[in-house]
Order: sequence, then C-alpha cells, then structure tokens
Amino acid sequence: MQLEESALGSEIRTQVTQNNFRGCRFRVAKEPVYTDLAMNCLFCKIIEGTIPSTPVYQDELVYAFADINPKAPVHVLVVPREHLGSLDDASADKRELLGHLLWAAAEIAQQKKLGKGYRVVVNTGEDGGQSVDHLHAHLLGGRALNWPPG
Ligand code: AMP
Ligand code: ZN
Repeated sequence: MQLEESALGSEIRTQVTQNNFRGCRFRVAKEPVYTDLAMNCLFCKIIEGTIPSTPVYQDELVYAFADINPKAPVHVLVVPREHLGSLDDASADKRELLGHLLWAAAEIAQQKKLGKGYRVVVNTGEDGGQSVDHLHAHLLGGRALNWPPG
C-alpha cells in the first residue's frame, strides 16, 4: 500500500478500501474484512462501534477516543483504523500512517488546548507495558507529568 502516493485526501478512502486487506477496515470499506485478529481485538470493536467509546477525533486513517481509565485530565487513545498489533509490527509501508498517528495526536492536543505541554506514549510489547494488542498512542496532558515513567 503506497499511502505516500496520495496526500491523505480523497484518494485515501479508495486506496485503503482496495489495499488494506491485512487489517480491519470497518468504516472505510464497503465490504469489511473481518480477520481473526480484528474479530478478537478490543480496539477494532471500538472502531467498528460494537463496543462503545467516547469519540474525540476521527478521520480516514485514525480514530481517537477517551481512555476508560484516565491517568491525566486529558487521556486520549489515538488508534489506526487498520489493525496493527503494535509499533513493532509496523513495516516500512506504514511510515505515513505512523506519521499521521502522531500528527493526529498533536491536532487533538491543540483542540484540547494543551499549549502548556503534553506527552504522547506508545507502549510496545510486554516490557513496554502494552495491554491491548492494537497499536495506539496515548495522549496525556492537563497536568505536569513525571519523568522517567515507571
Ligand atoms: P496500553 O496499556 O498501552 O496497551 O493501553 C491500553 C489502554 O486502553 C489503557 O490505558 C486502558 O485504560 C485503555 N482501555 C482499555 N479498555 C478500554 C475501553 N473499553 N475504552 C477505552 N479505553 C480502554
Ligand atoms: Zn485491532
């Protein structure tokens, strides 16, 4: 999938629909493909809407919603619509999607007026503390955050 061939514009919907066969594509595809991973994935179900969430932001590539157990006054999860297990599963052809994920986090931070600062965290794998195996970025803000994390 050559996302870089388009400018995240109107072509994205068609490209994702045609090429995103490895993951879940509930909102962008006319005929969704339910892979085993997506069927058993909490965040795929949230994206699909079968598990409720509090939406914060969405576009063709990502969905963002409030964390159910917030660790800061602002705690938003930014999730690619495509099922990727973790950052470690992101191959070179996902570079534009990863950039878009970060851009979306910054966009939400602006919408949430986090001008004083914020943190974007991508827990990855067992040692990284990842508990949901669908790539996601935590956007945390609204208070001073400690460093280093635990
Ligand atoms: P991680 O530990 O980095 O994999 O983060 C997973 C995050 O998902 C945690 O911060 C959880 O609080 C959050 N979470 C789990 N279930 C839900 C849910 N149903 N709705 C919103 N956030 C959730
Ligand atoms: Zn998933």
